Amino acid sequence: MNDPSCLVTCLEVAHTFGSGPTALVAVHGATCTVAAGDRIAIAGPSGSGKSTLLHLMAGLEAPTHGTLSWPALPTPPLQRARAIGVVFQSPSLIPTLSVAENVALPLALAGVDDATARLRVGRCLEQVDATGLANRLPDELSGGQAQRVAVARVLAQQPLLILADEPTGQLDHSTGQRVLDALLAAADMVNAAVVVTTHDPAVIERLRTRWTMDGGRLHTGRLPAGAVAVSGSRV
Ligand code: ADP
Ligand code: MG
Repeated sequence: MNDPSCLVTCLEVAHTFGSGPTALVAVHGATCTVAAGDRIAIAGPSGSGKSTLLHLMAGLEAPTHGTLSWPALPTPPLQRARAIGVVFQSPSLIPTLSVAENVALPLALAGVDDATARLRVGRCLEQVDATGLANRLPDELSGGQAQRVAVARVLAQQPLLILADEPTGQLDHSTGQRVLDALLAAADMVNAAVVVTTHDPAVIERLRTRWTMDGGRLHTGRLPAGAVAVSGSRV
């Protein structure tokens, strides 16, 4: 649990939204570790706490109970945030920036020089088949196109911990596989870890570690037989 090579460790981590009679426990006492090179799928029904757990691992939500740590990542929160790439369930592109500018933004914030950034943006857009979208604004994109651009933005960041929340949820099978290929290839390059929440059996089968969530509880054993079979729906 205290392995210094772990990218994130969760020890009895819980998260409750609200308080009093309307309080909702979204995650109950999750204990897990994610190490460099891990390839983890988290499956589970809608509302089971997958997104909340991913946001906790990203440091975007604070646990209301338990302990989260990132032993192998830099301690200052801003530097740590740069090492963590999050693909959100709803692609959160900045509406006033073009696709290329959206993908370049984390690089500009990290101080990457313009020439390197331009090359990386071009390569990452190509990896998700979005080269032709570079000059569009986010509101000129379909849901699936926006999702691919959000993935390209994370690829460009070259993070050590990739947390992707249903990254293929709006994509057809072959585009979804291509996006997954791009995420896994980017992770292989720097021995990053990939954690993907998904309902998609084709995604689950490509990730060697399968976890499930059910009613806010995380199960890190093998995926129960029924979990893939019920996974055709979308959140
Ligand atoms: P999943 O990603 O598996 O669909 P979520 O983590 O989004 O599950 O949600 C888990 C539970 O927490 C659900 O009951 C959901 O309604 C609730 N929830 C999620 N986000 C919030 C929020 N910001 N405020 C209140 N409740 C929330
Ligand atoms: Mg979700």
